[in-house]
Amino acid sequence: MPVDVIWFKKDLRVRDHQPLIEAAKSCNNLLFLFLVEPERLELEDTDHIHIEWELDNAEELAKSLAAIGGHLHIKFENAIRALQSFHEEFEIGRIFSHQETGNSWSYQRDLQVKEWCNLNKVEWLEFPTNGVIRGLTDRDLWKKKRDSRMRIELLEPPNLESRSVPNPDIFDRTSIGLNPRKLSFNREPGESAAATRLADFLGHEAKNFQWGISSPVNAVKFGSGLSPYLTVGAISMRRVVQTTNDRIHEIRTKPDIVSDAKMWLKSLASFRKRLAWRCHFIQKLEMESDLDLVAQNKIIDSNLNRVMDEERFIRWKTGTTGWPFLDACMRQLASTGWINFRMRAMIMSAASYNLWLPWRDAGCHLAKQFIDYEPGIHWSQVGMQSGTTGINTIRAYSMTKQGKDQDPEGDYIRKWIPELSMVPTKYIHEPWKMPIEVQENVSCLIDTQYPSPIVDEVTSRKEGVNRSYAARSTKESRTQSKLVLQKHGSRTRPRKRKAKKDKSVQQKLF
Ligand SMILES: Cc1cc2nc3c(=O)[nH]c(=O)nc-3n(C[C@H](O)[C@H](O)[C@H](O)COP(=O)(O)OP(=O)(O)OC[C@H]3O[C@@H](n4cnc5c(N)ncnc54)[C@H](O)[C@@H]3O)c2cc1C
Repeated sequence: MPVDVIWFKKDLRVRDHQPLIEAAKSCNNLLFLFLVEPERLELEDTDHIHIEWELDNAEELAKSLAAIGGHLHIKFENAIRALQSFHEEFEIGRIFSHQETGNSWSYQRDLQVKEWCNLNKVEWLEFPTNGVIRGLTDRDLWKKKRDSRMRIELLEPPNLESRSVPNPDIFDRTSIGLNPRKLSFNREPGESAAATRLADFLGHEAKNFQWGISSPVNAVKFGSGLSPYLTVGAISMRRVVQTTNDRIHEIRTKPDIVSDAKMWLKSLASFRKRLAWRCHFIQKLEMESDLDLVAQNKIIDSNLNRVMDEERFIRWKTGTTGWPFLDACMRQLASTGWINFRMRAMIMSAASYNLWLPWRDAGCHLAKQFIDYEPGIHWSQVGMQSGTTGINTIRAYSMTKQGKDQDPEGDYIRKWIPELSMVPTKYIHEPWKMPIEVQENVSCLIDTQYPSPIVDEVTSRKEGVNRSYAARSTKESRTQSKLVLQKHGSRTRPRKRKAKKDKSVQQKLF
């Protein structure tokens, strides 16, 4: 009897998993598969921490599958070779999976798998993921379709009876040469941990979400912390949206169950908006599969002509630019694998405007730092924050202003930059201004213990912004921007207003 393969990709859960439900209806035996493809270890945007986190979650998935009668086969193998060998052993009838909107490499891999399926007369049934709609050419109907998809009832895991192909092999992680950096923040993997995180957030921390997520310190407490789970699909977006909607409904109908219902509702609305952003950004990559390699507005990108400067790049990566708040953020990110949205934007803006570094190099480094690397969000945001879309306001952040706003006493800086641990608050954001006697007193000699700024922050930002406005103001780049807007622009606001706003972009200090 042929087997049907259920190929788990970035959907490591059993609840709300359509391919699993559909496959369970089949009369064939079922083979549950998770692949670690060796090629990924070599990709510029993929880090060993990503593979390790996927494996942690896959092992939890194996337990959840076992509870409903399934055996997960975890293989370290190229997708075609793995499918070929299963085909030779069992004869694959059909493959069930979710649609994947990944980087260019996974897009090409899927094309090869499709070709293999055609050659071998294997049917590959792919089911939609999250709020991403396959086959759209513009955004006119996207929101309506995404919202209606979010309303579909959650799917409960099936009973697999005894039709699962047993797995005699125990996967040995040490055999694949995985050597991830050790993160200082441990996340519990798996579907139950993701659901617990969501419940805790909606039950407690979400009240402070709206004001809490701008600072890198508060965002750890008041953000949902769901991105690592969403990225590996340990929880479905639909489940997060529906659970959030239930909580909103509960507070609306019984405001007395919480203190300050107004604040709760504002924060939950803001959280729900971000969940929609997730789908919105991944949809861009779905509609333009090489966004990790090519800028949305190629003309602006070419006009900008950013060039690699190794010294600048290394100092940005290692948190040794001499801008204390930026350096602290880079070191937190390297240590924990996560940082909040505002700081990600600032980090990318520093690379793009102050240091004039190419977006692809900066983006790949950041992708490897993020435990929650999600190509669709990541490369769209990298494009926005480097000014290469042509449809977003140029946002060049001031690191010193952000530092003073988010870390007025400098405690965060002192935590992550031990060299500055004794620097008085008066100088913590601009230590290069310390008189030499103070430097000696606090054991922090500038350019010996801690560097002076790599370039002048104010003039480099101004120059970067001016060059960016020049790059987007040519006739050709404007024409290209219009096409980008037509294809990827959100349709939530009236188009007329948006076009006007785009023309009169103002330089702002963030
Ligand atoms: C340069 C840059 C790169 C980024 N790369 C990634 C990435 O690789 N993976 C990733 O998940 N997010 C990325 N983001 C978006 C955002 O920073 C993270 O989603 C957020 O910090 C995750 O923390 P959280 O789960 O506590 O988010 P919360 O604030 O609790 O939000 C809940 C969820 O909403 C979604 N979300 C929140 N903010 C955004 C946003 N601005 N755009 C799209 N979706 C959003 C995420 O799925 C998030 O998990 C990036 C942002 C920037 C500026």
